[in-house]
Amino acid sequence: MAEKEDFYDLLGVSRDASQEEIKKAYRKLSKKYHPDINKEANAEEKFKKISAAYEVLSDEQKRAAYDQYGHASTDPNFGAGGGFGGGFGGGGFGGGGGFEDIFEQFFGGGGRRRNPNAPRQGEDLQYVMDLEFEEAIFGKETTIRYNREEECDNCNGSGAKPGTSPQTCSTCHGAGQVNAERNTPFGRVMTQQVCPTCHGTGKEIKEKCPVCHGDGHTKQQHSVKVTVPAGVEDGNQMRLQNQGDAGENGGPYGDLYVIFRVKASKTFERRGSEIYYELPINMVQATLGDELEVPTVHGKVKFKIPAGTQPGTTFRLRGKGAPRLRGTGNGDQHIKVKVVVPDKLTQDQAEHLRKFAEASDYDNVVEQGDSSFFSKVKDAFKDKR
Ligand SMILES: [Zn+2]
Ligand SMILES: [Zn+2]
Repeated sequence: MAEKEDFYDLLGVSRDASQEEIKKAYRKLSKKYHPDINKEANAEEKFKKISAAYEVLSDEQKRAAYDQYGHASTDPNFGAGGGFGGGFGGGGFGGGGGFEDIFEQFFGGGGRRRNPNAPRQGEDLQYVMDLEFEEAIFGKETTIRYNREEECDNCNGSGAKPGTSPQTCSTCHGAGQVNAERNTPFGRVMTQQVCPTCHGTGKEIKEKCPVCHGDGHTKQQHSVKVTVPAGVEDGNQMRLQNQGDAGENGGPYGDLYVIFRVKASKTFERRGSEIYYELPINMVQATLGDELEVPTVHGKVKFKIPAGTQPGTTFRLRGKGAPRLRGTGNGDQHIKVKVVVPDKLTQDQAEHLRKFAEASDYDNVVEQGDSSFFSKVKDAFKDKR
């Protein structure tokens, strides 16, 4: 993955810059690099980068996500159930079977090969972090341990035994390529090939570092502190810059993507910052109303059921949901009332219900269509007769 430039650096503003400062910086730079004005070779590319940076930093929500998660937050898949954006776009030459490949088959490598001595960023890594339901809501600080390629301490990444250093390759004399005679459909030609001794680096390690055997890096256990932000959801991911594998030739470390896997709760259901809870009450509570305690992720809360509450009615406890990851404040807790109709009655209870039915001119009420509660009473009552 190519290293992306920091958006604040691109605009030349500090991390706590105001919207006014960001707008000002963008105006100045976009004028300077606009491809219609600036004819320098990389002006257009620079202009695009500045515009991309401004698009994110000028939007407070996008900016907050970027501050928290870095460039991962600008991935279209960010927060949409995890995973990484799909492969490479485009096509054209350079891909499988293009002209250059055919050329290479006939004439051997050479020309277009990347400079093997160029610094390259290390590989990105993934770490799946399991979270309890509440941990995802409130966040936590933790330290994770995993194995990654680290620069070898013994040789500082050179691959050469300490006290020695890589020397000019004796096969290619530092050129990285050797001449070879090859048979091609066009006859015998002299071609250039990547030097088999140094693989194009032009350097040869005569005495390899005994720790890394010349690789310049070794697999090591690495630990890093992670602050899980409050309000993460299952499948969210977070980028930790430079916590991946070591780079080559002094290139930077790759990044680590922490992917959150959140356990379900037996009590609550969560969708984003909203939390859903089903409250079982009996028919007397539903009819006469009651005051009781309801669990929330923030602790128990006193809750008043109004008299005449119908089954399936939902109530809302404002601010008792999960924190909004890309906003402020909390979502709500939604309480759905479930009226539990008794499936066993004592003789005494049945007697009272019968009296209740007589006293309520009950058939009349049902005919008026207010059936949900009374018909349930009636059904329960009939079954026992
Ligand atoms: Zn070493
Ligand atoms: Zn060589």
